[in-house]
This record gives sequence, structure tokens and C-alpha cells, in this order.
Amino acid sequence: MSTAFYTHSDCRLHDMGRGHPECPQRLDAIQDHLRSTGLDVALDLRDAPAVDLRCVERAHSARYVAELKNLLEEVSASGQPRALDPDTAACPATWQAVLRAAGAAVAATDAVIDREVESAFCAVRPPGHHATRDEAMGFCFFNNVAIAARHALDVRGLNRVAIVDFDVHHGNGTEDIIAGDERVLMVSIFQHPLYPFSGAVPKGTNMVNVPIPPYTKGGEVREVIEAMWMPQLEAFRPEMIFISAGFDAHREDELGQLGLVEADYEWITRRVKGVADRHAKGRIVSCLEGGYALGALARSVAVHVRVLADLT
Ligand SMILES: [Zn+2]
Repeated sequence: MSTAFYTHSDCRLHDMGRGHPECPQRLDAIQDHLRSTGLDVALDLRDAPAVDLRCVERAHSARYVAELKNLLEEVSASGQPRALDPDTAACPATWQAVLRAAGAAVAATDAVIDREVESAFCAVRPPGHHATRDEAMGFCFFNNVAIAARHALDVRGLNRVAIVDFDVHHGNGTEDIIAGDERVLMVSIFQHPLYPFSGAVPKGTNMVNVPIPPYTKGGEVREVIEAMWMPQLEAFRPEMIFISAGFDAHREDELGQLGLVEADYEWITRRVKGVADRHAKGRIVSCLEGGYALGALARSVAVHVRVLADLT
């Protein structure tokens, strides 16, 4: 069975302004690298559909969804960019990108559950894991992974899903949405202290939050993942695994101070895939979160996707 690669040209049009690290070139770098290595030929390339807002309301409040829709449609109509917070801005193309990013995650979930593909990677932006139930923040508008996880549970009838988050920043939005939902086990690593300065004290018993001090290298990160994530994931026996795949813990990335390299992302992906193979029929949907050093991002995504697709 193959691995799907979801993206959409609209995701490239979302632009938060000159010099912003969460830039359209991130997707170009990923796709150029896939092409130049021939990896694209081995993947099932798919266009992301726009999400149905009823799917979004399984993770976000109806009020937030309506307010964001109004605001972003207004920005589209006016042609004028608008700042939502000091890090997060909307341009006229943002609403379409937001719909495609969440739509990719939901479509990938359906494709995997329907056995069209074994696993999927969504090369989308904006990212999602800082978006809380009621708020856009930290480059994020809709929480793509939380929306997809709720779709798997509430619509597709799964009983237990895991969310794995290895972005250098704590996935505070995902925690806000799924803390206390015992159908979900969320395991994460994140640099602490670092934006958004949360996560050291988990908000629910279904959260395994592993704060990592700055300047930690891959070997130590692997040790804590082995000790803190793996027994919990094995005991939980997830029926499907969602990955918040941020690559900003890479040593070349300037938004964090961790020292992961491609081999570490390969190792992490392999460990997570092992859990999926043992308990979840291999079902994984991975969504791009951070990763701002373009070369490191492209190479890290490639090793991640290679493991997902059994191409190593
Ligand atoms: Zn991040």
C-alpha cells in the first residue's frame, strides 16, 4: 500500500509578509527536494480539498469558526492584510489556504481509513498546532491535526487515536482542544522554555508532555522518547496515529535551540510507525507544522516521508 502526499497551490498563496519565517517558500523547498530525489514518483500525489466547516467545529467552537470566516473573508474582499496577533497575519489568500490545510488532514484521514493508502503526509500551511479551540495564534488558524483526529473518532467511528507532536514548540492548541478527551493520547516533545511557554504542567491525564532543555541533542531526545512516549503508546494501542510534524527542532533551525538532525527524524518516524504497524494497521496521517530552515526542512520531510512509505 502506498503513501499519499497531499498539498494544494492555495497553501502557497498565504503570505504573512516579507521576512516572515512561515513563508510560501517552505512548500517550494519540500516539493523541489521531493522532485530532485525522485521521491515524488513513489508517492500518491493528491490535491487537498477545502474542508467542510462542520468538520472544523468538532475541534473549534462554532463562534470562533464563524468569526474567523467573517474576518478572513473581509480581508479577502478588502485586499488588505491584517494582523491577528504579533506573529500571525492574514492576507487575501489566507482563508482559502486555511480551508485547504484542514481539508488535506480530513481527506487524508478518510483515505487512510478507507484503505486507499496506508498513510499520508500533508504538506500544507498554515500550520495548526497552536490554534486553540477559540483562538488563532503562533502562525496557526485552524488546528488541522485536532480536526482530523476528531473526524476519525466522531465521524469514522474509531475508539482510540494518538497524536504525536515533535515540533520544537509546545502544541498548546492541540492540548487545549483534546485535554480530557480520553479517546486521544497525545505525546509530545518541545523545547522549554520557548514560545508559547506552556506544556510543563499537562492539562489532562491523556497528555504526555516532555519538555526538553535548550541545546539538547538527538541522542538524549531519543532516550526520553523511548522512556516517556513508547510505553504509553504501546499501552494505549491507538487505532490510528496523527503526527504534528514540525521540523524546527533541527539544529539548523533558528526558531529553536535543539539539535536534531535528519537521522533523528528518521528514528522518531520509525518508532512511531512501529506502533502504527503493531496496533493501527499502519494508519498514520502526518501534517506539516513548523520547520523554517528551508534546506533542513526539505531533507527532514524527505526522510520522514521515506519511512512512512517504506522506501528506506
Ligand atoms: Zn514550531
